[in-house]
Amino acid sequence: MFETTIAGSLPKPDWLAEPEKLWAPWRLAGPSLVSGKRDATLLAIKLQEDSGIDIVTDGEQARQHFVHGFLERVDGIDFAHKIEMGIRNDRYKAMVPVVTDALRLKGRVHEMEAQTARAHTRRKLKFTLPGPMTIADTIADKFYGDRVRMAFAFADLLNQEARALERDGVDVIQFDEPAFNVFMDQVGGWGIEALHRAIDGLRCKTAVHICYGYGIKANVDWKETLGSEWRQYETIFPALAQSRIDQVSLECRNAKVPLSLLSLLKGKDILVGVIDVATDEVETPEDVAATIEAAMQYVPKERIFACTNCGMAPMQRDIAEAKLKALGDGAALARKRFV
Ligand code: ZN
Repeated sequence: MFETTIAGSLPKPDWLAEPEKLWAPWRLAGPSLVSGKRDATLLAIKLQEDSGIDIVTDGEQARQHFVHGFLERVDGIDFAHKIEMGIRNDRYKAMVPVVTDALRLKGRVHEMEAQTARAHTRRKLKFTLPGPMTIADTIADKFYGDRVRMAFAFADLLNQEARALERDGVDVIQFDEPAFNVFMDQVGGWGIEALHRAIDGLRCKTAVHICYGYGIKANVDWKETLGSEWRQYETIFPALAQSRIDQVSLECRNAKVPLSLLSLLKGKDILVGVIDVATDEVETPEDVAATIEAAMQYVPKERIFACTNCGMAPMQRDIAEAKLKALGDGAALARKRFV
């Protein structure tokens, strides 16, 4: 009970990429970059194991960004002529690549890191992929002429890679859909249907991660505009509860999300965010146990997993490691106290 996992990413070692940055430039190139990514993946697993994380990830050490790590392996995208686009409903401006032709995978996307991770841990392994709606919101389109049609084209590619990850021995495949918290009215309409396309034929556990973003300034500022209670989840949870996705990963710690909304996800495993990634203040095991206890009011104990609010990629490494440890220790404390 109260198994632990992380949203997905961990900071990279500073010999691999510039620290404390999203889209951090690599510090290696060519074959050194490939072996550096592999080495960092091993370290990420070791750190999680030593911190008491039960369902480990590759720490997303082999990708520069959670969306573009996937897009780099897709044909039909022009990366040479990026254009500026407002994303997440204009919360940020970003230079994004452009879809110019029918989308097709060049081959495997995450083979190296998935197989490396699988070969070096006996724990359950989770692997993260960007969700179709979030991808469609992070790229410009000059081919499909319809954002939904383009999202489903990406869903087919995600499914192809997800099936291969399952064959690699991955136990959980998680799709990151921060866009679900922005385009709430489209989640029931097509967002979940696109996820269903992405998980088609999978036998492993499936998850969706829906957060309020990394702890970067644009997100912190946006959260300030959301009022005293964040009720975005209320709109999308009923549709998610009806979906075929097994697990839902959510932001809870220091969030203004009323935890009572969790009761709308009946039948799902809930990955409760007990670690805030937007502050350098490290949670105590007591804090973690308290968030788990609060969630227990609305979610059956056996459905609760302890997790981070979001990825830790842009954090300081020592702080991220201390937070990992707090996550493991806090869940152990909750087990002792509530089981
Ligand atoms: Zn997130």
